Amino acid sequence: MVGVVVRLDELTRLSVSELAGVGPARTRALAALGVETIYDLVTYFPRRYVDRSREVPIGEAVPGEQVLLVGRVMDARRIPTRGGRVLVEAQLVDSSGKITLAFFGQPYRAKQLANITGEVAVFGRVELFRRRRQMNNPLVDPIGDKTGAIVPLYPLREAAGLNSSDIARAVAQVFNEYAEFVDVVPPSLRGHLGLYDIYQALWQLHFPTNEQTWQVARKSVAFDELFLLQVKLAQLRAEREARAVATEHDANPFVPGSARLLEEFLAHLPYEPTDGQRSAIAEIARDMASPRAMHRLLQGDVGSGKTLVSVVAMLIAVQSGHQAVLVAPTEVLAEQHHRSISTLVAEARLPDSVTGRLFEGSPRPVSIDLLTGSTPAARRRRLLADLRAGALDIVVGTHALFNDELAFASLGLVVVDEQHRFGVEQRSALTDRVTVDQGSAPDTLVMTATPIPRTAAMTVYGDLDVSVIEGLPPGRQRVETRWARTALEAQMAFTLLRDEVAVGRQGYVVCPVVDESTKLQVRAVTEEFERLQQAELKGLRLGLIHGKLSSAAKDEVMRDFRDRAIDVLVATTVIEVGVDVPNATVMIIEDADRFGIAQLHQLRGRVGRGADKSYCYLLSEVDTAVAEARLGALVASDDGFVLAEIDLELRGEGTVLGGRQAGRTDLKVASLSHDRDLVLEARQHARALIAQDRSLEHHPRLRAMLQALFGDDEADFLLRS
Ligand code: ADP
Ligand code: MG
Repeated sequence: MVGVVVRLDELTRLSVSELAGVGPARTRALAALGVETIYDLVTYFPRRYVDRSREVPIGEAVPGEQVLLVGRVMDARRIPTRGGRVLVEAQLVDSSGKITLAFFGQPYRAKQLANITGEVAVFGRVELFRRRRQMNNPLVDPIGDKTGAIVPLYPLREAAGLNSSDIARAVAQVFNEYAEFVDVVPPSLRGHLGLYDIYQALWQLHFPTNEQTWQVARKSVAFDELFLLQVKLAQLRAEREARAVATEHDANPFVPGSARLLEEFLAHLPYEPTDGQRSAIAEIARDMASPRAMHRLLQGDVGSGKTLVSVVAMLIAVQSGHQAVLVAPTEVLAEQHHRSISTLVAEARLPDSVTGRLFEGSPRPVSIDLLTGSTPAARRRRLLADLRAGALDIVVGTHALFNDELAFASLGLVVVDEQHRFGVEQRSALTDRVTVDQGSAPDTLVMTATPIPRTAAMTVYGDLDVSVIEGLPPGRQRVETRWARTALEAQMAFTLLRDEVAVGRQGYVVCPVVDESTKLQVRAVTEEFERLQQAELKGLRLGLIHGKLSSAAKDEVMRDFRDRAIDVLVATTVIEVGVDVPNATVMIIEDADRFGIAQLHQLRGRVGRGADKSYCYLLSEVDTAVAEARLGALVASDDGFVLAEIDLELRGEGTVLGGRQAGRTDLKVASLSHDRDLVLEARQHARALIAQDRSLEHHPRLRAMLQALFGDDEADFLLRS
């Protein structure tokens, strides 16, 4: 087969078993790594490389640093320990010295290490233990006796029965059998950006000649990934726009003559909208007035006032004679939204002459109701009937809303809050059904409180328009954030909480999720609640809230907290999103290292919502590098966008494209945080290309590749994210 030219999309259909030297056993082992096709194999990239020319001699490895060492393993054996924990130790040796490798809880290591012939690459942090250098649970990759080259090390799972050199051999075989991959990126573009063609790029990413060729290869493959994704997104967007012009009439054209409701509402607000809110409102109003359906993402940091913006959007729908729904991810949040929207509308004290739907003739105030999983059946029936009849203008709910019985007189707007928590299907189900029923699409406003870095938003939401609420309402002070690393510092946090309560403020203590699905969680938070009541917070009025409480019970606790009948709320992360009690000034997060950056930022956002100085204490005695990076970031910054960028870097990119398993469309090489310019470049070229050739008639290979990569399911996913 030497000298064969192959199209990339064909490689997505060829099994690795077609390769010489890859038999059934190896095929199975590769499948366990998610590698089934030859395309999967050539895009299964090394995790790192050993540059044999730049090895750190073992004798020179410095404690505290993460290093890659190469040497021979000697003297691997199990060490008896007192706690009964399995400890395997070995020595890694080269001509300059040796270092101890320690493996905890990995009994198979003794045998595995003893069986290795040749050299291994070991990656980890050098520590000092009893004055000797040691690495705990390092990564170990057998590399055989290769010399003089840059050796790729592939991500492996222990059970796979493969080592890095097996994979390298299979990859090399692909390049032996095929002389060329037909490129799908227009050659002019590659030239313009100084990129390798795809064959060269993939080859060099696996087997770089040197650092420079690796850099170019990485950039080339990253561009490919981004470009393919952006072409797909640009295409989806273009198709939707074409459809909108042809058939999809917006259910909700804004009727300027009836602007009274909105005008009155804005005139009677208890505060001035911020500039950020105003500009978001202007963009939304423009979208809603247009005959095309709106698909807009509203981003704003915690506390930036997204609720108000969504209420304005809903009132635009209502005053134009339509209905609006707001969907929230949890009951607590739905209840709170319902309350704050009702309050906002009530506080505006709209004159009687300004009414909600004029639809049935008689004027009446704007009506708002709540529908969740715990709405009693009779009430639910009435509510659904009202929605169908048009007697209800705004409904707020959880995904209990997504139900076949749900029908509207005329749904104009769907607002989805805290978007990242929803499953894709749930979200689109509602809009799809309404579109079919009404023959027209409602406007959609997706709100997210976890700021997505701009570049990521551009990639993931490439087909949505994005509004960002810049800035916070005036008078907000920075939440003073401290990392309490010792028991003493933790005590100081609780003392401060008591002091704040003494002067009439309130606070939260958050316990980490132990196990979301079982009663263990409830037990853990309940025990902590009881403990605090006897110890640190003795004498204060404590409330307890967690996900397993009935909705009524949750509501009652929240009401008591809002009414200041409770001083301190002991909670799980049910209070993570949205909860808004401005009198609360202290947030204590226990075992803070167990939470992610975004979650911590959300939790911290529960305080600092009023005019008073607020505090957030992160309790954690853990000081691993990861904890250091996460908790340190929280202490250093209160800007959700900055934190989101850091989060992205720490987590890698895999999870950006939604909470599903990594798939073919996930970015493997491109980094949304580091390759910003490339994202922009890819997006710009993709849009230009689609503007000229929407269905890719003149780019058949690109079209075939997109089909192979995204198929129809994937396209759906992207469209609806
Ligand atoms: P988030 O964007 O996190 O959802 P909210 O909509 O819950 O923020 O608003 C946070 C707090 O700020 C609420 O207490 C709200 O009443 C208040 N708020 C919103 N907009 C303004 C404004 N323009 N001026 C003053 N306070 C505001
Ligand atoms: Mg909110």
